[in-house]
Amino acid sequence: MKAITVEPLQRESARVEDVPEPDPRNGSVLVEAIAVGVCGTDVEIVEGKYGWAPPGQTRLVLGHESLGRVVDPGPAGRFRAGEFVVGIVRRPDPVPCPNCAVGEWDMCRNGQYTERGIKAIDGFMSERWRIEPDYAMRVDPSLGILGVLLEPTTVVAKAWEQVVAVGHRAFWEPRSVLVTGAGPIGLLAALVAKQHGLDVHVLDRVKTGHKPELVRALGATFHSGHVNDVPVEPDVIIECTGVGQVIADAMRKVGAGGILCLTGVGSGGRTTGFSTADVAAEMVLQNNVIIGSVNANKRHWYKAGEVLSRADRGWLSRLITRREAPEQFMSALHRSPDDIKVVVQFADV
Ligand SMILES: [Zn+2]
Repeated sequence: MKAITVEPLQRESARVEDVPEPDPRNGSVLVEAIAVGVCGTDVEIVEGKYGWAPPGQTRLVLGHESLGRVVDPGPAGRFRAGEFVVGIVRRPDPVPCPNCAVGEWDMCRNGQYTERGIKAIDGFMSERWRIEPDYAMRVDPSLGILGVLLEPTTVVAKAWEQVVAVGHRAFWEPRSVLVTGAGPIGLLAALVAKQHGLDVHVLDRVKTGHKPELVRALGATFHSGHVNDVPVEPDVIIECTGVGQVIADAMRKVGAGGILCLTGVGSGGRTTGFSTADVAAEMVLQNNVIIGSVNANKRHWYKAGEVLSRADRGWLSRLITRREAPEQFMSALHRSPDDIKVVVQFADV
């Protein structure tokens, strides 16, 4: 079967190739791939900056934002042929750490977890893939190809749960949310905040195009420019850019008793030049909290499915700005400024 593979940490090693049928050790449920979303992590892996092949192999099948159709449900009988499923990405570490031991692999403490398409387990960019029944999530069939948005939505579902958990340390009735960055994660974060009835503001560098249109179609307010220019004092900021200056500005922008949730992963950039003690003093005097949030456990996968089920299908479909054939995966990896989510499509829905 056809698969998109890469030799981790080797630049320009990605290719479409014929590989054996999926390894039965990856699970008893056999799935036909429909589509796989592309994100920044895939780009980093293809650029040779990140990624691990499965033990004893040199190449890794790429892809962690899956959508597929069950071909053979296997002996467990939990699925039926033809059902739409998405594969959970992370597997608990083998030690396991206390969090992995209770199913909170997203909070893994020792970093020995594995991840489909990223770390030591083949991903989903192959014509067929296998999955363990416990790690296959059934998706609302009315979503069709939009089910491929489930994985990025889990990231936001977890981040929101973290924000709420911190919020309830005190009397907390948030009114306004600022999302920095209008990529897929930022737009899905705005969707979740709107579903909670909040006044939602989204900031991005762009001034025109899909992103401002999608923010406005959601009933949220779009801003272009600097965090400081947003004319609200947000109770919550969901940071989705990973850009140092935006993060520094967000730390100062969040209102008293506010929560800044960091979801973006960046590196380097210019130092922002503010005094750590000054920022810390503001945080102390305002009871502010900064939290980092990554990945998602099964509860968040379930919640993300509920978010997508409730969302307007027309709005969600505008998040997928391009679909590419597997042979064109390199052009799927090169996103234009107006691209939001690009998917590699293996089969019709
Ligand atoms: Zn762990």
